[in-house]
Amino acid sequence: MERRKMVLDAKGVKKYFPITSSFFKRHVGDVYAVDDVDVYVREGETLGIVGESGCGKTTLGRAILRVIQPTEGVCNFVRRDGETVDVFQLNENQLRETRRDMQMIFQDPYASLNPRMIIRDIIGEPLRYNSNLSGAEITERVKELLDLVGLNPRHLERYPHAFSGGQRQRIGIARALATTPRFIVCDEAVSALDVSVQAQVINLLQRLQSQLNLSYMFISHDLSVIQHISDRVGVMYVGKMVEQASSEDIFRRPLHPYTEALLSAKPIADPRLKKEKILLEGETPNPANPPSGCYFHPRCRYKCDVCAKERPAYRELEKGHFVACHRAEELTLDGVYRN
Ligand code: SF4
Repeated sequence: MERRKMVLDAKGVKKYFPITSSFFKRHVGDVYAVDDVDVYVREGETLGIVGESGCGKTTLGRAILRVIQPTEGVCNFVRRDGETVDVFQLNENQLRETRRDMQMIFQDPYASLNPRMIIRDIIGEPLRYNSNLSGAEITERVKELLDLVGLNPRHLERYPHAFSGGQRQRIGIARALATTPRFIVCDEAVSALDVSVQAQVINLLQRLQSQLNLSYMFISHDLSVIQHISDRVGVMYVGKMVEQASSEDIFRRPLHPYTEALLSAKPIADPRLKKEKILLEGETPNPANPPSGCYFHPRCRYKCDVCAKERPAYRELEKGHFVACHRAEELTLDGVYRN
């Protein structure tokens, strides 16, 4: 895996949302939605991003694609033509060109498709803006895409309401694939679906990945889905990346106490592996007013004096295993499996 070529390498990504006073509209603070995050994705791999609701994972995905304007950072992306561009520095035209190679699949297959448009126009829309194809050529391409995602190409005149949730998500995937991207952000792409349909859509995404050599950033709060689909996993907490490593390392031997707590809540099929669930005390901190030092210290059962005073550096403790914890070297934490 490590020998694969880099597709996306983002460093120091920040997205702050300003807070203004209600009367004078003065800038009085910021919500630190994404705060100094490093991520990378290699060719053909899936980086899972996991964390509680509000931890900044969706904002990170949107900032990387520049669906929202990032506050700071560098996002080097290797386009299909081999050129490396900093997505955060592109002008409008360059961004439109680069967007062919970077797409997004949204969470809600009901809300993300325009109910007044037929499927041919929904899937063909990116091609109308990003290619020189004629109307007839776009229709042919839409038929190919419907076939690719397992839908009947003869249904291209239908409206979204004629399809089930799983079929609508396939339509969303076909639309994302229309411009032959190489990198796709899947934002809670299966969360709104029934479990059996989730499995079908995940299988489809995996088949498409190997068929088209796609790279995914797969954002989810569901650890089982993340474990199933990811080659590597990043764990976010209050806008920070606290741990990032191979899926195997994250699930078997986490180095961050927050990851350990998340894993302890993951359902396990084998009762012999049943273990204590770590109950986190207190609320998730407000990203507009995070705690001093390590953001996790008010809830961490391993905290020591330094934790409330100094923010731990995010560092590569073992090859490919990054963590931000003062005590990562000395702690032995539980993963999902016990040896
Ligand atoms: Fe816990 Fe301290 Fe590590 Fe933060 S730095 S996770 S408080 S041990």
